[in-house]
Amino acid sequence: MRYVFGNWKMNGTLAFAEEYVNKLLGEVRPASVQVALFPPFTALSSFQYLVKDSFLKFGAQNMYYEDSGAFTGEVSPVMLKEIGVDYVLIGHSERRHIFLENDEMLMKKVEAAHRHDIPVVFCVGETLEERRTGATKDVLKRQLILVQDILSRGDIVAYEPVWAIGTGVTPTMDEIRESISWVKELLKADLPVLYGGSVNKGNAVDISEVSGVDGVLVGGASLKVEEFAIIIKAFD
Ligand code: PEP
Repeated sequence: MRYVFGNWKMNGTLAFAEEYVNKLLGEVRPASVQVALFPPFTALSSFQYLVKDSFLKFGAQNMYYEDSGAFTGEVSPVMLKEIGVDYVLIGHSERRHIFLENDEMLMKKVEAAHRHDIPVVFCVGETLEERRTGATKDVLKRQLILVQDILSRGDIVAYEPVWAIGTGVTPTMDEIRESISWVKELLKADLPVLYGGSVNKGNAVDISEVSGVDGVLVGGASLKVEEFAIIIKAFD
């Protein structure tokens, strides 16, 4: 089984989601790929109806680790469970770098998701400076150390070098292979590891052929349904 996941980030109204999902369901019929979309919260709750009885799975881009309470602006695992999400993304680099979520907080989020039986897609990846100074493996180690014992069957890890996210720049296929193998070495469980960072219809086939890559997490290119369909077919 391989995975093609689409992270819409802060894009996509309800109307966009409806049109997109109907089009995607008409365009692809994956045989060996699990496809999931991660829309913003406002569109998320409609996904339980939009994807009903289809191959399409859906997840949240983030959540808080408490079940309820005085945490203005946050969404809890109980709320996500209620709408039937298949996954929650934890530790996306935009959460780490823009919203300053640290490794301890991310561990609490993984634990909270597990308490409610929500599988996580845990994201890791180095900055350009860290890659340039040869610190990539150490960074991956630091990002995984608190969760490597608790990530378990059903969870997925996404290796997403920060410098490749939304930049149009991708690592070489050798660099992807090497980093993915480091991530797999660090994990205690045998989990799927996805690559993320400027995946598009032009590089999807090459990336799909890199050994150890179990799928992709796609940002910008997942907003164009025709392009996302091409990426799905590259992995099928
Ligand atoms: C992402 O948001 O996880 C991502 C990889 O973005 P992009 O594909 O736009 O680089």
